[in-house]
Amino acid sequence: MKPIVQIAIDGPVGSGKSDISASLATTLGFVFIYTGAMYRALALLCQQSGVDTKDAQGALALLSTHTIDLEPPLPDSKKPYRAFIDGKDVTEQLFTPDVDRGSSDVGVIPDVRKFMVRRQQELAKGKSVIMEGRDIGLRVLPEANLKIYLTADPEERAKRRYEQYRRKGTAKTLEEMIEDTKFRDAQDMSRVTDPLQKLPDAWELDTTHMSQDDVIRAIIGELKKRSLI
Ligand code: C5P
Repeated sequence: MKPIVQIAIDGPVGSGKSDISASLATTLGFVFIYTGAMYRALALLCQQSGVDTKDAQGALALLSTHTIDLEPPLPDSKKPYRAFIDGKDVTEQLFTPDVDRGSSDVGVIPDVRKFMVRRQQELAKGKSVIMEGRDIGLRVLPEANLKIYLTADPEERAKRRYEQYRRKGTAKTLEEMIEDTKFRDAQDMSRVTDPLQKLPDAWELDTTHMSQDDVIRAIIGELKKRSLI
């Protein structure tokens, strides 16, 4: 039997975590777990229920009366995961500017984090995974075989997000994207519970001037160097 290898990828908005993690998971035959989708689904649920995403009691009440699930994609799916609220597929509704900000708001709430971390640890248990988010190396998989901190210049990250939204036809200016990136960076890095940070035992990769293929090659090189694959 192959040994279990768990890779934690953390980093700020637009550092390329999702695309790179999903592609790497396919290459290595690992399970990809996109934890941001769970915070996004809760933000969407808040919006659908008329609950402010900063309202800790309201958000927690929703978590106790509804279910949020994350599952692997169907074979021909465009997205590398599926997210559900009460069994309904909401994958296509998770990327709007309101959900972007709302997900960062609910991520500040300590009991929401506790709930999400427990759920995410269950999802990863006993599997070779590539799990990405903000607190994976710190809290979800503190024993991960490799912890990666993926980053890039703020302007470059905002541009990448802008391009993503532009391709989908969402009307947001680059300036608004830069503002949103700054807002989420600040909130994700300054919250009291498990803020985003580069851990002392994380391997940092600045992707500002790297293509996606370069990044994947670099990570595979690092995994080989550590005899993990
Ligand atoms: O990764 P993504 O940008 O989709 O995540 C949306 C938001 O969810 C982040 O801005 C962050 O506030 C929150 N999040 C988190 N911890 C994680 C994953 C996401 O706090 N592990």
